[in-house]
Amino acid sequence: MTNFIQSFDPEISQAIKQEEYRQNHGMELIASENYQSAAVLATQSSILANKYSEGFPGKRYYGGQENTDIVEQLAIDRAKQLFKADHANVQALSGAAANLAFYSAVMEPGDAILGMDLSHGGHLTHGSPVTFFSKVFNFQRYKTLSNGKIDFNQLRSLAHEFKPKVILAGFSAYPRELEYDKFAEIANEVWAILYADISHVGGFIAAGILKNPFDYGFHAAMTTTHKSLRGPRGALILSKGIVSNPLKKPEDTIENIPTRIDRAVFPGMQGGPHMNTIAAIAVALKEAQTPDFLDYAKQTLINAKTLAEEMLKYGYKLVTWGTDNHMIIVDFSGTNLDGKIAEDTLDKIWISTSKSTIPDDPNPPSRPSGLRIGMPAMTTRGIKAEGTKYIASFIHQALQTVDHPEKLVQLKKEVEAFATQYPVPLFVIN
Ligand SMILES: *Cc1c(COP(=O)(O)O)cnc(C)c1O
Repeated sequence: MTNFIQSFDPEISQAIKQEEYRQNHGMELIASENYQSAAVLATQSSILANKYSEGFPGKRYYGGQENTDIVEQLAIDRAKQLFKADHANVQALSGAAANLAFYSAVMEPGDAILGMDLSHGGHLTHGSPVTFFSKVFNFQRYKTLSNGKIDFNQLRSLAHEFKPKVILAGFSAYPRELEYDKFAEIANEVWAILYADISHVGGFIAAGILKNPFDYGFHAAMTTTHKSLRGPRGALILSKGIVSNPLKKPEDTIENIPTRIDRAVFPGMQGGPHMNTIAAIAVALKEAQTPDFLDYAKQTLINAKTLAEEMLKYGYKLVTWGTDNHMIIVDFSGTNLDGKIAEDTLDKIWISTSKSTIPDDPNPPSRPSGLRIGMPAMTTRGIKAEGTKYIASFIHQALQTVDHPEKLVQLKKEVEAFATQYPVPLFVIN
């Protein structure tokens, strides 16, 4: 592989090399990021990228599909098995596209849907007013209480008031297990479809160490494949194929959800699937079935708990005072720090994090009071609990040194020396 890019396009090659250096010499603590294995990266670079495969296995629009059918069927079968689903669509190009496809599969314009408010941990695609589909569907947003936990009383009253077609359980910044049973109870009262956006925790659910929404009566779920699942950038839309609501018209029964999802993705939203990505998803899902993946998943949760304990020892406040999953959210309210200052300061020592709102954040979204820190990426690089304590110490030292650039320069050197002990999985050499 060496030199293909360098000899033809030195500018791009140089940027890739610099990024390789940055990834190896810095630490990735952005909760949504991870490192793909060499096998996953290699599969993405395969000649499957050359093929048009509109349609689904056995039902394609163009010829020459004997190999793409094998690839996509393997991805589908592995996804179904890992997540205990009856159906899997593996073609959505990313999480946002997958959510849009699901909404359009089960809702008509104007229908109501309940999702978690962005500033309380929900995702942009859960109805934020800046998205196009917030204009198409009637998003109502539930929030968390001041203790950081979901306010199920508010959720129930919104559900009874708006009679939503869909109740969405899912988050991008919420450090606790979701109580899927409580969502299910409320959805049953108002005949809503239960949809979980497990993008952040997909890897842990696949490993069987966090709760699976399908064990609590959920009808469908979506996970991105590139976060805790460690695959390429893509998404799985998973669903159950059972009829559970005899009161509704046949076309509105749960039975039709899988078909509706497939049709919503193609031809509803997309054209040709990215078969090289789907192959890489299949490889990542095979990796997710191994004991090594289970070890990584368990270690990630241990590391996140260790990080939470260390930060509490250093005197920081955390949203919900801890974590059940892979992320913690530091709450700087009442201090002279905020999420923006913390993110910028840590950037200077090559530790990547993301600013985050806290429940009822008094600050504007551009300068929120919280900082989200996640452990999946560094755990992939081999960090254990002891190493996590060093990470917490680097963070603390940096946050105490905000106004001392020379100290940050010294600290960055220490971070680099530490980070390079944990190499990034690599396949392409430019
Ligand atoms: C990351 C994420 C998405 C969007 O995924 P993209 O691949 O960035 O489009 C959707 N929902 C949740 C909860 C996420 O965390």
